[in-house]
Amino acid sequence: MEKTIPELYGSQVFTDRVMRDKLPKDVYRALKKTIEKGTHLELDVANAVALAMKEWAVENGATHYTHWFQPLTGYTAEKHDSFITPTDNGEIIMEFSGKELVKGEPDASSFPSGGIRATFEARGYTAWDPSSPAFIKDGTLYIPTAFCAYTGEALDKKTPLLRSMDALSKEAVQILKLFGKDDVERVTTTVGPEQEYFLIDKEDYAKRRDLIFTGRTLLGAPAPKGQEMDDHYFGALRPRVSAYMHDLDEELWKLGIPVKTKHNEVAPCQHELAPVFDTTNVAVDHNQLTMEVMKKVAEKHGFICLLHEKPFAGINGSGKHNNWSMSTNTGVNLLDPGKTPAENEQFLLFLTAVIKAVDEYADMMRLSVASAGNDHRLGANEAPPAIISIFLGDELTEIVDSIIKDKFFKKSGKVVMETGAAVIPHFTRDTTDRNRTSPFAFTGNKFEFRSLGSSASVATPNIILNTAVADALASFYAKLKSVPKKSFETAVHDLIKETLKKHSRVLFNGNGYTDEWVAEAKKRGLYNLKSTPEVLPKLLDKKNVDLFTKHGIYTETEIRSRYEILLENYTKTLHIEACTLLEMLRQDFMPAAVAYMKQLTDEILGKKAVSKTISTKAEEKALADLSGQFDQLSAKAEKLQKDIAKAEGLADELKKAQFYHDPVFTDMQQIREIADAMEATMPAAVLPYPTYSKMLFYV
Ligand code: ADP
Ligand code: MG
Repeated sequence: MEKTIPELYGSQVFTDRVMRDKLPKDVYRALKKTIEKGTHLELDVANAVALAMKEWAVENGATHYTHWFQPLTGYTAEKHDSFITPTDNGEIIMEFSGKELVKGEPDASSFPSGGIRATFEARGYTAWDPSSPAFIKDGTLYIPTAFCAYTGEALDKKTPLLRSMDALSKEAVQILKLFGKDDVERVTTTVGPEQEYFLIDKEDYAKRRDLIFTGRTLLGAPAPKGQEMDDHYFGALRPRVSAYMHDLDEELWKLGIPVKTKHNEVAPCQHELAPVFDTTNVAVDHNQLTMEVMKKVAEKHGFICLLHEKPFAGINGSGKHNNWSMSTNTGVNLLDPGKTPAENEQFLLFLTAVIKAVDEYADMMRLSVASAGNDHRLGANEAPPAIISIFLGDELTEIVDSIIKDKFFKKSGKVVMETGAAVIPHFTRDTTDRNRTSPFAFTGNKFEFRSLGSSASVATPNIILNTAVADALASFYAKLKSVPKKSFETAVHDLIKETLKKHSRVLFNGNGYTDEWVAEAKKRGLYNLKSTPEVLPKLLDKKNVDLFTKHGIYTETEIRSRYEILLENYTKTLHIEACTLLEMLRQDFMPAAVAYMKQLTDEILGKKAVSKTISTKAEEKALADLSGQFDQLSAKAEKLQKDIAKAEGLADELKKAQFYHDPVFTDMQQIREIADAMEATMPAAVLPYPTYSKMLFYV
């Protein structure tokens, strides 16, 4: 019998219910305590959990287990070990110990470490993260883990993420105590990432080296139609796509990933999926898993799922919207304005902390979404601009104004607040208006960080956000902790006012796509960091190093290593793209152009042989134009090759990245312009790979 959806949901997950069923009561309680409060787990408890996990996994068809981790590649990594242990009599038993559950020792030498770990100390270790549930996939039990060097430095994205969640919790709990919330023990950040993607035919993909090697098209003239009719956004799902989405939903539900929303996006062949939000580290793990399953299920349906930020020129690329909030273990969303004036006051303090955090660390927010792929989107009038600003919506903006200027806040003409200046105005949740151009928008009870790239892990943006907000809260706590009770409300009000005044420059409700905003932002002193090589060095600025070290998120060594890895990643991406483009030109495109020029020549000669008076004007013009473009293309290809060699010769990693940005990337764009113009005049039959029209409109 088919399973119902509730039966299907989480059926491959070692859920709380499975734990309760399988674990002795005291073990269950000890584990829950570890999960909820982050306390240390004793080995006997780990042994009991491992036994139950193995039993459950084997019952569900698993033969192997793997520690599953998130090295700095941005992908996930796994190494499978079977449960089998040979016995003396030549048989086997299925075993799994607490030690194996808690710690693994993968050979880490081939993961990027940015110089932390020389290869002779290749060993790293993985450590179980009990707060993210284990699951079964393809006959293997997956155990989410953190990944560290033997010297203790984090080699992954999960470790600093967990650290940042702890830092924020600590600071938020302290503040809440000042508001009399003594029952709050932990504040967790929550994340709901909306994921965009493209689906194209597997056969088309297989014919394009650029898609295979780089995930995006490096050449390709635009199709006659793009997204200008707005007919794809929320449009009816075509049956093939719908079948894919249906299958995908089920696979993700089995893994306990609460995907909820799916729809067509703006660009042709572009779609979106969104889960219900979860605790940040679980949401991050789930998003990594989601991306993997999306690709796998696509192949089953004859599709390739493209997660690149800009697979096609001229139409929208893909991003991720990181919905983020903070919530207490008592179930209160701290970014919900609440219903009473007291709740409003607490809300405004947390809101102000976020505003301060984003203004002070806008460079780090931009850095957290920086990649070669995402550089194509930010500031290209389809995604938020590279300038980080905050959209609050009309009502909150009025409230902020009224606080800054000591004015009464009037709601729909009625004076709601009449008790005097040093009191927080009273308001309730507003269904905020939408502003698609803002990188960081308040949407009623959460913020939506919209600058993320579609292919990247959502860990880093949340590490930065958590840490920057933790820092703002820490500074608030320092100012408020010794204030006597009777003046607390006034002190909170003054702190909010003073902070908002100082950071209001980051607030912007207007259209982020305009040139006026770019000019205005410059006047306000906001960052406009356009490319990855431009933003990466900011990571080493003292204020940023201080932020991360102060809150124990990254050590200086860890920061340095991330800087190096990000630079290298940019350089390598551009290197692969440039080499792929050259190969495509020389092995696919230029031979096709030569073949077509030969056709034209034959045509001209053929006609001339028939009769001297038949016109060959059109063919001659086509041939002359194409020959001219071909010469240019050939010269540009040579320049590109030389520039790649020059870039590779640079020893300084930053200079190298900058050189890849300009001139190498500039060369690539110029080449594309010429090749695309040629492609537009060439018959489909001679083109060596599928065109935009074919890829985007025939799925
Ligand atoms: P839209 O497309 O209008 O921005 P969606 O409904 O597609 O909105 O996505 C909103 C996302 O925000 C969902 O993943 C949702 O679960 C998430 N979300 C809602 N409340 C919170 C919260 N408190 N914290 C984090 N994410 C949240
Ligand atoms: Mg959204």
